[in-house]
Amino acid sequence: MKIQHIFFDLDNTLWDHRKNAYLTIKDLFEKQEITLQYAIDFEEFHAVYHEINESLWEKIRDGIIGKEYLRKHRFYDTFKHFGVDNEELSMYFEEHFLDKILNHNQLVEGAEALLEYLKSKGYTLHVISNGFQEVTERKCLLSGIAKYFNTITSADSVGVRKPNSAIFEYSLGLSQAKKEESILIGDDWIADVVGAQNFGMDVIFFDALDENREEDGLKTVKLLLQIKDYL
Ligand SMILES: [Mg+2]
Repeated sequence: MKIQHIFFDLDNTLWDHRKNAYLTIKDLFEKQEITLQYAIDFEEFHAVYHEINESLWEKIRDGIIGKEYLRKHRFYDTFKHFGVDNEELSMYFEEHFLDKILNHNQLVEGAEALLEYLKSKGYTLHVISNGFQEVTERKCLLSGIAKYFNTITSADSVGVRKPNSAIFEYSLGLSQAKKEESILIGDDWIADVVGAQNFGMDVIFFDALDENREEDGLKTVKLLLQIKDYL
C-alpha cells in the first residue's frame, strides 16, 4: 500500500531543540554574568549541561525518574560540577529556560523545504511529540510550520510517551490513518524507531548525531532532504 500519512517527531527532527536550548542558556548565562561571578566558561558549562540533561531524559524515558526530578537537577547538577552549590540560581535557570526557549525557533536544516516538498506531493502531515501539548503547538506556530500539519499529538494529551504503542494508536486514530499507509520520521532510536517498529508502522531514522545503527532494511538519513529519496 502506498504511503499517505507522514508522522514527524518534533524536537531535533524539525524544531532544532539543541540549538534553541543552547541559545536560551547562553542568554541566561550572560544575563546572570556567570563567567564574571564564578569564572565558568560558557562552552564548558553548556557541554556539561548537555551530558547531564541527556542522561536525565534517558532516565525519564526508561521510567527511572519523573519530570520533577529532572527540573530540579539538570541545572543544579551542572552548577555543582563547577563547584557552585546554589539551588536558587539553578531554579532561576530552570524556570527561565522554559519561559525563554520559545523566543528561539530555529528549525533543523532543510526542515521547511522538506515539509513544502512533501505537501506538494500530496502527503498528509502530522506531529507526534513527547513534549507538552501547549508547548508543542506553540513551537509549530512560532517557527512557522504549523500550517503543514493536520494533527499534532503530544504525550501529555495521551498520558503515555513514545515508544509506547498507545500514543501511535491514538495519533493514527485522530488522523484516520491506517498504519500500512503511514510512516514516522524521528531522531530518537528508542522512542521513534523502536516505538514505530513495535507498533508495526514504517519508519525513517533521522541519524543527525551519526549513531550509524545497522539493521536490515532500515531506512536512514543524515540530512532531512535525503528523505526525498524515500518519499
Ligand atoms: Mg526528537
